[in-house]
Amino acid sequence: MGPVHMAEPARRCRTAPVCFLVMDTTSNLGIGTKCILAGYTPASGEPRQIPIIQSTTFKYDSGDQLGALFNLEAAGYFYSRLANPTNDTVAAKIAALEGGTAAMLTGSGQAAEFYAVFNIVGQGDHLVSSSTIYGGSYNLFAVTMARMGVEVTFISPDSTDEELDAAFRPNTKAVFGETVANPALTVLDIERWAAAAHRHGVPLLVDNTFATPIHCRPFEWGADIVIHSTTKYMDGHGAALGGCIVDSGQFDWTAHADKFPGLTTPDESYHGVVYTERFGLGGAYITKATAQLMRDFGSSQSPFNAYILNLGLESLHLRMPRHAANGQAVAECLAAHPQVAWVRYPGLPGDPYYALGQKYLPQGSCGVVSFGVKGGRDAAQRFMGNLDLIAIETHVADARSCCLHPASTTHRQMNDEQLAAAGVSPELVRISCGIEDTADLVADVDQALTRL
Ligand SMILES: *Cc1c(COP(=O)(O)O)cnc(C)c1O
Repeated sequence: MGPVHMAEPARRCRTAPVCFLVMDTTSNLGIGTKCILAGYTPASGEPRQIPIIQSTTFKYDSGDQLGALFNLEAAGYFYSRLANPTNDTVAAKIAALEGGTAAMLTGSGQAAEFYAVFNIVGQGDHLVSSSTIYGGSYNLFAVTMARMGVEVTFISPDSTDEELDAAFRPNTKAVFGETVANPALTVLDIERWAAAAHRHGVPLLVDNTFATPIHCRPFEWGADIVIHSTTKYMDGHGAALGGCIVDSGQFDWTAHADKFPGLTTPDESYHGVVYTERFGLGGAYITKATAQLMRDFGSSQSPFNAYILNLGLESLHLRMPRHAANGQAVAECLAAHPQVAWVRYPGLPGDPYYALGQKYLPQGSCGVVSFGVKGGRDAAQRFMGNLDLIAIETHVADARSCCLHPASTTHRQMNDEQLAAAGVSPELVRISCGIEDTADLVADVDQALTRL
């Protein structure tokens, strides 16, 4: 089955205090044009680049005007903890890239993960999650949200339909997975996972950080909410932390009103507004997340970071193909080298996720490659020390290539047995290929292996 047809063109939404949906003027244009132009259309004489509205607050002529904003009755800005025009401009661009109806920026990817889930999953509720997800998201669900009374069932991304169905409970409110998982590099069968979520009346939330909308748009395969750590490829230069949540506007909260009372019954903290009634299916979820979660938790992105993020977005369509081409070339070099025990990259024929990669990421996945050096932990460390161009860093997905040995850094506290359970073997090295010349990266990897 092909991509789900989007009934309505992508639209943008000024997220707060009142969400109103505006036609995306780039909806008929290509994804690269959207990277450049979506979200901001200056009038004659206005700045060509998006203005940085570096202001915490906004001035009004009458108390009544401001009161209407606090009642969610009028559109406008009053305090940048809730919403800021620069941030909304960039969120609108990301909504257009993903094909969604509304979006919000957050101060980090972690804040976006938390808001996206907590907006609809609370105390006494249950979440189904893929087990191969980013370590930070795993901790958020398994430890911190557990302390808030949320139960999570982790299941393999390869679960059969029967195994998926068996994970649901009457109090399940959402399903979560990553398009291309960090660092496991599994590819989520989005269409099948979305179908399972919808069979049980709940939305599928997909972290699309590694694929980006250039290489996969999860809404076209039935996902309902998309989450990004914009810190990674979207910024792309290792310059600004950030996150983003996008709503497809396709999930019908009112058809499962009993499961989502926060969206379908009055919010007493806003004089009884019902989000689905006031803001429609396209705006309810993001307006609630802005009006409640940003108000109360305040993980807002700085407008200056949003400006930097927008610069990154302007070249996302040019950078992603190079990241993927470099990832592919380095994966092929590794796979052919006698010093290498195994390689994981969805673009390698023979990789367990090659078929799903061809389906969901036909133009390439990302620049991240995981592999094992022969000789275990010690050889992995020596390999990294031998690299000249590729730097040792706790980062992925930026213009400069970098690498990390999880067993001695991010997963350092675990012994070899625990590492195996987490899918991180002692010899695993993760390389994030940047956008340097392919031949230089391949030569660096090759010489570092040969000198082992
Ligand atoms: C980095 C990352 C996050 C967390 O994002 P931050 O911006 O570092 O908070 C979440 N999910 C994935 C897949 C990531 O790679």
